[in-house]
Amino acid sequence: MNKPKIKLNRLEKWKGSLDVCIRCGYCFAHCPIYKDTRWETDAPRGKMTLIYGLINGEVEPTDYVAEKLLECFYCKRCENNCSSSLPITQIFTDAQADLLEAGFDVKGTTSVTNRGQCTLCLECVRLCKHEARSYDGRIVVDTVKCQSCGSCIDSCPRMAISMNLGFGTNPDEMRSEITGFLKDDKRKNAKAIVFCCNWSNYPGFQVAELVSEDPDPEYKILVTMCSGRVQSQVIMEAFAQGAWGVLVTMCPEDKCEHDGNVRTKMRINSLKKAIHELGIGPERVQLEIVEKGNQKQFQDGVKKFMKEIKDAGPLKRG
Ligand code: SF4
Ligand code: SF4
Ligand code: SF4
Repeated sequence: MNKPKIKLNRLEKWKGSLDVCIRCGYCFAHCPIYKDTRWETDAPRGKMTLIYGLINGEVEPTDYVAEKLLECFYCKRCENNCSSSLPITQIFTDAQADLLEAGFDVKGTTSVTNRGQCTLCLECVRLCKHEARSYDGRIVVDTVKCQSCGSCIDSCPRMAISMNLGFGTNPDEMRSEITGFLKDDKRKNAKAIVFCCNWSNYPGFQVAELVSEDPDPEYKILVTMCSGRVQSQVIMEAFAQGAWGVLVTMCPEDKCEHDGNVRTKMRINSLKKAIHELGIGPERVQLEIVEKGNQKQFQDGVKKFMKEIKDAGPLKRG
């Protein structure tokens, strides 16, 4: 066994436990990052293997390894499905802290601030439930504390915040998915966008994925790490691209790990008023509360929404 090349003070304590991972792979099918890239090193099992190698000196600590270990949305789907009940995200947090302490300057999926756009209003500092943002003459993000929920994105009046790596969940990535779906000439049935919270709607989302096997589906599901991440501008983009309606699904009010849903509710209510002023019926933007994993609630909510917007018909262009 080789000696690790850097100090791994926090990871040391997991030395024995990592043997418990039998590499079954129950975790990786649930990981939104793996789903996006299909690379083993982006899956929780791959990351556990990297950590095992780091501890045993078989994997050299490099920027690439550090970047991989800082890619995690902390959705805990892997943990909930781990056949060995390993506290996977705690292990990742310790790996991140050790690697950052060893001098690796990587950001993975953490939130970043565009300093040119930031006016230092400190709204994001007040909002972050995980105390990952602070002010030190400029906005500083604690890379280990940041849970990559993205709730701060919508809090910024200057649109200065994004995720360093979004894996399809950054506002510009969502916009391009929306345009790609609604403006695809091959699709004749495309009508709506459904934002699906990673926490509450899974595995309801899995069921809905079966619907997406339809070559010409009526709606597209976009997964976000928290409903709090869906900006009004992104919702309005859907209308600009011809959507008949937009549905946002979120957790029950006291069940959001990031308190993102409280703001989602306020945002959707003010958006309903704003679109009404523009002559767009408020029923075109809907909010559905879905308890964690409640497939029926998710499906019923989507069905009801689709019926209502189909009854309303396409948006009239003025
Ligand atoms: S907690 Fe991280 S590694 Fe685990 S499934 Fe979620 S994003 Fe993937
Ligand atoms: S709100 Fe979420 S994404 Fe933003 S800094 Fe805090 S933990 Fe990170
Ligand atoms: S909310 Fe935006 S403008 Fe305000 S401090 Fe944070 S990043 Fe800067």
